This record gives sequence, structure tokens and C-alpha cells, in this order.
Amino acid sequence: MSGKGLAERVRACVEARREPAVDLLRSLVRVPSVTEDEGAVQRLVEREMVRRGLDVDRWEATEEELAPHADEVGEGLLPKGRPNLLGTRRGTGSGRSLLLNAHVDTVEVGDRDAWSVEPFGGDLVGDALYGRGSCDMKGGLATFLIALDVLDDLGVRLRGDVKLAATVGEEDGGHGALSTVLRGHRADAVVISEPTRLALVPAQGGSLVFRLSVPGLAAHAAARDSGVSAFERFLPLYDALLDLEEERNASLSHPLYAGVENKVPINVGRVRAGNWASTVPESLVAEVRAGLLPGESVGEFKRLLEGRLRAVSEEDDWLAENPPELVYFGGQFSPAEVRSDAPILSALAGAHRAATGRSPAVEGVPYGSDMRHFVRTGGMDCVMYGAGDVRLAHAPDEHVSIAELLAAVATYAHLITDWCGAEGL
Ligand SMILES: [Zn+2]
Repeated sequence: MSGKGLAERVRACVEARREPAVDLLRSLVRVPSVTEDEGAVQRLVEREMVRRGLDVDRWEATEEELAPHADEVGEGLLPKGRPNLLGTRRGTGSGRSLLLNAHVDTVEVGDRDAWSVEPFGGDLVGDALYGRGSCDMKGGLATFLIALDVLDDLGVRLRGDVKLAATVGEEDGGHGALSTVLRGHRADAVVISEPTRLALVPAQGGSLVFRLSVPGLAAHAAARDSGVSAFERFLPLYDALLDLEEERNASLSHPLYAGVENKVPINVGRVRAGNWASTVPESLVAEVRAGLLPGESVGEFKRLLEGRLRAVSEEDDWLAENPPELVYFGGQFSPAEVRSDAPILSALAGAHRAATGRSPAVEGVPYGSDMRHFVRTGGMDCVMYGAGDVRLAHAPDEHVSIAELLAAVATYAHLITDWCGAEGL
């Protein structure tokens, strides 16, 4: 069948799947799965995989296997009761294999009053389906499942294997994706359906989080000059972090990040100081997240950061004697990218063109994702492509456009048939 004829058939089959797609995504949103509490949603996902005839591998990561990777996924993870799933649709044997990955965990709801809808309701308002995880990234998981349905509707028999991985813990370091790789699951390429607004993303930034503890000396507020305010001593350290961010933005460049205003943000996300108004604060603890560009090494950035903070401390009488303490915690997300001639890039671009009639935007993203585990530990080409706007993720009133989600379904239907090879078309 001609490419045009196929594109029309795919479009018609995808359109006919609109209602089931909405129902599926709604059912996923209605089962809360905030990171560390993914058991219930995985029971639902496993049923959906089995319904589609996938051969399901279900396992929990172990603390032992993750321990040597604490730098990449963080320490103190408790993987018990948090199963990962990998469902395989076996091909007839002569095509390339494809691993499709989606994480099932979401961030917290946050301030409920800031939501105009029920966060786990899955309300459909116009073209948008609302709820925590709708965009990041249960929409991506639904995209994969519906794409498999569309292939069934088309009567496609695949040559290569398609593997659908639904993994846990992405928001806190991605131990589920890492465990997928450690378990030996491999394919000729990996695609993650994170929300990219249908842009093709061959590079992800890295990030690391650290806790900065600044000591002070308590004193009664009425005699505040006899104490040392940890808050005031933090201010030059804070300035140094902002200066470092500005310098790095000016000196670092990467072609895929040309359009990103702040490529390497340093965010002071949480600050706690003092006990109450009438005491000079004797300690301050700041939690900070710093971004890295592809090509950068986490180790080198750590040395740069530590050097800057040390230089500020040495210029301050109090901090020179009582240096702040820096502790890394949580996931240390190395940046990752695939080479520009990776076959999956042209295959995905071609699939997007077949589905939408346009070439996709190609861009890097400034945040970390599971991509790095597949690229760095798994040694596989991995890119991201999916419906939804990441700016709506992690926010109140998170939502995803169903029209965009269906466009992603069409792209994946084309990608799978083209990449794995198909009979019956
Ligand atoms: Zn995500």
C-alpha cells in the first residue's frame, strides 16, 4: 500500500479510537500514583497489557542491585511494593526491536485549592483531559497502548518485537528504568513518550540536587549583634549560585539548546532558617537543584560548585571558621544525548511527517529523564517524543490535549510499523 493510503488508514483508525483513548487515560489518572505509591496503578497497567496480548514481565528492583548506582538514582530508595512492568509483543522475527518507555509515577498534587478541578478526576473540558499525571506522563503511556490497538485495527503483524515498559520512580531518580536495563531488557532503540509537544528530543539535560547547611550563632533578638545570622551568611552564597548560573549560561552552548533562555538553571527550591522571630537564626538549610547540559560531567560540575562555595566562605570571617556543609541527595541525573545520525531519529521524524504532514521540531530539554539510563547504562539509542506541554506538568490544573495525544498515537503507529517492519499492510 502506498504511503499516502497507509497514512489515511492510520488517521481513520486513530480517530475511531478517540473515546477509548479518553477512557483509558481517565482510568489511569483516577488511580493516584505519586512516587513511592505506584502499586495500584501498575495492577491496572498490567491488566491493560494482558488485554492486548502482551507477554508481561513484572518485577521489583532490589536495594542490592541499585546500591552501586546510588550516584545515578539516589540513596535510600525503597523499591518494595513498586513493581515495574515490561510487556512484549513478539514479532515474526526478522525486524528491528523497539522499546517504548513510560513512567507511571507522578509528583504530588500540591495545593489542592490551586486546582479548579478534582486532581484525580480525569475531567474532560473541551479537548483537554485534566488531572495529576495526565500530561506527565500517563498520557504518554496511553499513547503507546492505543497505538498498539491501532495496529490491531489495521491488521498489522510486526516482524520485530515491541516492548512496552511501564516503570516506577522516575520523578525521584528513575530506578525503575535503571532496573529495566539492569534486568537485561534491550532493543534496537528506545523511545520515551514524555511530554515534548510532539517535538523530537534527542538530548536531555542533567540535574543534581544538594542541601547546603549554613551555620549561625543563636542570640536573643534584642541583642542580635551578639549572634550570627545563618540567613545573612547564606546571602553571599546565594549570590554566588546566581552568578554561577549566569556565567554558565554565557559560556556553555549546545546546538539543541539555542532557543532555551536559561539552559542551566540553578534553583533554590527550599530554604529553612531559624526557629522563631525573637532568636537570631542559628542554622539555615537550603535545598537546591542545578541543571547540566549534555556533554557536561556531573563530577566536573560538582568540583566547580564546591570551589565557588569554598571561595565565598573563605572571604567571610564566620564561614571561614564555620564552613557550610554541602550534601548531595536524591537522583544525580547525568545529561545524555544520542548522536545526530542515530537511525531512530530519522525514523521518528519520518513517522511524525507521515502522521502530521510536517517535520517535527528537534530540540533538547533542560530537565533530566529516564533517557540517560537507556543511553548510558543500557548503551541504546533513546529519544523522547510525546503529547503534552511540560510546563503544565507538576503544576495545578495539569492537562493534556486529546488532539495532540491522538497525533502522537498516529506517529507511534507509523514508527512501530516502519521500524519493526510489518506484514499484512
Ligand atoms: Zn515525566
